Amino acid sequence: DRINIAIDGPAGAGKSTVARKVAAELSYVYVDTGAMYRAVTLLAQRNGIGPEQAADLHKLIEGLDLKLQPTSTGQKIMLHNEDVTELIRSREVTTQVSHYAANEYVRQKLGDMQRELASHKGIVMDGRDIGTHVLPDAELKIFLTASVKERARRRHQELNDSNYVPLEQLEAEIAARDKLDETREIAPLIQAEDAVFLDTSHMTIEEVVSYIVKLGQS
Ligand code: C5P
Repeated sequence: DRINIAIDGPAGAGKSTVARKVAAELSYVYVDTGAMYRAVTLLAQRNGIGPEQAADLHKLIEGLDLKLQPTSTGQKIMLHNEDVTELIRSREVTTQVSHYAANEYVRQKLGDMQRELASHKGIVMDGRDIGTHVLPDAELKIFLTASVKERARRRHQELNDSNYVPLEQLEAEIAARDKLDETREIAPLIQAEDAVFLDTSHMTIEEVVSYIVKLGQS
């Protein structure tokens, strides 16, 4: 029988890569919830609305038109019919997204959309609060982490000349984002009681994927 799989953890733990591959192996649909928070951040920034402008954010969120289109390699993010899949990966978005993600209207709206997406079983959803808040009944929950050094090192390796950031700076930014996500009032990043804890610092992607796929099939 098809199940839902929730994968949570801090920034750069490899959640999206792992979740995408697990979904492909099980012929499930992958949903990247971080991309949704990123899209809202991009929209707010374009409208000159800061994370502390709650009333303006609320209004913006009410008119939100956000669609996730599964593709063979992952998912495409359509924001008001514009493909923003690449744009939401900018540093401007990355360094600000946790501030917007702390807003209650933003979380309410995106949480509702995420539950709707998961209403048919066979979803692999990654994020920060999937096992604890969005899909508390998910049949399989994974809490994926790695040391902050290792997570920064992995991110650093993915960079090229056009988006180069020194390793120390990346590490500081990841640590700052974790702190915001772990200490916010609503749905903070925390391991669900019934989640399987996986420290991937010394594991390859393939090892992590096959471990989760096995759990999903048992
Ligand atoms: O997963 P990703 O790093 O793209 O997520 C970007 C940000 O979106 C996180 O740092 C967090 O602030 C927010 N987020 C969240 N809840 C989720 C997924 C992401 O608050 N379920």
